[in-house]
Amino acid sequence: MTDPSPSLATPYRTHTAGQLRAADAGTKARLAGWVHRRRDHGPLIFLDLRDRHGITQVVIDKADAPDAHATANRVRSEFVIAVRGTVAKRQLGTENPRLPTGEIELQTTEFEILSEAKTTPFYINEPDAPVDEGLRLRYRYLDIRRQPMADRLLLRSRMVQAIREVHHANGFVEVETPTLIKSTPEGARDFIVPSRLQPGSVYALPQSPQQLKQLLMVAGIDRYFQIARCYRDEDLRGDRQPEFTQLDLEMSFVDEETVMAFIEDMAIEVSKATTPERPLQQLPFPRFTYDDVIERFGSDKPDVRFAMELVDLAPALTPASGFKVFDEALAAGGRVKAIVAPGMAGITRREIDELTERARRFGAKGLAYLALEPGGEFKSPIAKFLSEEAQRAIVELSGAGEGDLVLIVADAAAVTADVLGRLRAELGERLGLADPTVLAYLWVNRFPMYKWDEELGRWDATHNPFSGVVPEDEELLVTASGDPARPSPEDPAGRARALQYDLVLNGWELGGGSVRIHRRDLLERSFLLQGQTTDGMRDKFGAVLDAFEFGAPPHGGIALGIDRWAALLAQQTNIREVMAFPKTQSGSDPMLEAPSAPEPEQWEELGLRFVGLPPKPAVGG
Ligand code: ASP
Repeated sequence: MTDPSPSLATPYRTHTAGQLRAADAGTKARLAGWVHRRRDHGPLIFLDLRDRHGITQVVIDKADAPDAHATANRVRSEFVIAVRGTVAKRQLGTENPRLPTGEIELQTTEFEILSEAKTTPFYINEPDAPVDEGLRLRYRYLDIRRQPMADRLLLRSRMVQAIREVHHANGFVEVETPTLIKSTPEGARDFIVPSRLQPGSVYALPQSPQQLKQLLMVAGIDRYFQIARCYRDEDLRGDRQPEFTQLDLEMSFVDEETVMAFIEDMAIEVSKATTPERPLQQLPFPRFTYDDVIERFGSDKPDVRFAMELVDLAPALTPASGFKVFDEALAAGGRVKAIVAPGMAGITRREIDELTERARRFGAKGLAYLALEPGGEFKSPIAKFLSEEAQRAIVELSGAGEGDLVLIVADAAAVTADVLGRLRAELGERLGLADPTVLAYLWVNRFPMYKWDEELGRWDATHNPFSGVVPEDEELLVTASGDPARPSPEDPAGRARALQYDLVLNGWELGGGSVRIHRRDLLERSFLLQGQTTDGMRDKFGAVLDAFEFGAPPHGGIALGIDRWAALLAQQTNIREVMAFPKTQSGSDPMLEAPSAPEPEQWEELGLRFVGLPPKPAVGG
């Protein structure tokens, strides 16, 4: 007999609905759960009783248990019931090999209805039937009753458990940081919460616990982690939600290598604990510099489960190809690069127009192509402008074979990379080039520290305002092109590389982190470049600047998106699929009906009045 799991047995049940086996035949058992399905055979009623652990067949025979039969007659799908009876082997030929409990049934003597249920807005017992997402979110508790959603939440729970175990085994301390804080900028808008005790003042919900975790390092908690809820008020996409969860951590007395090595081991363990059947593409995780990934994949979060690398066509086009668009782009210091879409030579006019339109939307002026038809013929509207030799050289350089399509962009370097990078990602998906079971982790580092913000006349940290600088580049930060308090696009800092590293999985940025600046003077210099005034710095980052005067250890850390990671491990393309109660595209919760208008007393207590939104500027004005 299998042991009833002591932790799951309750006054209502001796076993879960996934537990009983042939070896239990003859024993008495009690089960409680939902009616998954009911089949009436006159004096015999068969019910599938379901809980999150499985399904057990329950039989009620009118001859043996007339009262139970009468009650069972009343139940409908999704009623909650409790039954008592004897476990029996099913008759030969009626076993259900698809259920772990399929060899037995519970012959019921007592039957109780614990709770009735209305007809549900969608079937719970048809997990594959498509259901409108709005309905799923409105009745999320019913959606979670369905197997796929429940399975994903369990996977997420296993993943977080594995994360905690690895961290504890490696000497990390789990610390909770507050969520009513002051703005910690991570490049998004803050959600703010008005204070009742201090009218006119607000808290900000953390975009991340960045400053607090750095303060924990100054406090001597040399290895911190937290499964941290973060809030960023920005437009929603498939991989974004206004509130989301990060694995946030920070370590003292480390360099880049220490953090990356720990994260890599941790990610491998978590992947194996969560989805042991999925192969890891490459160990150790491949590392690319930012310049490398942009050059080769046109993206700082490439999906490397397939190749389709960007090819530099310049050698095929110099000194001059004869095609003005290419020659001009190269003469202006731009790039002419290509990707090869395997097997797409037969693309129709309409499809190529669509691709061109997409390339334009991504910022290109146009998209050139060259199809290599079976038999070796070229088909290309630009062929007439290119010498035979240039055409052959393009094909050779790109490695295109018969039946392939070469897509070419000629533009400023950044545009060429970005457009081809996006097309690469889209085509990889469309052509099914990536093995969905493979987990391809990789690192990207050596990002530029800043990018120039033309509009605001200052440098912007490309990642985190606290990021450290690659030691050889520190000098670039210290030297200013003019007044150190007045950033200029000529500042040598524009060439400095950050001690920043991003972890990428299957084309998604899982997260990133850095070794931080831990010296007040250098941090202040970095803030000046980022356009902060002395007062502004004090206001935004005063606690960290002050703390750095009391002995700050060298430190670094990272944050990984738990929702993204869980979605990727669950082979989902939207993080909503791994969140119990996510928000819709417009940031609302259709189940709780949030956000909603505050009660009049709440306005009053907070000393607030809604004055309406400023009028929208007239179109064209
Ligand atoms: N605070 C950063 C973020 O939320 C991560 C880090 O640098 O640790 O992206």
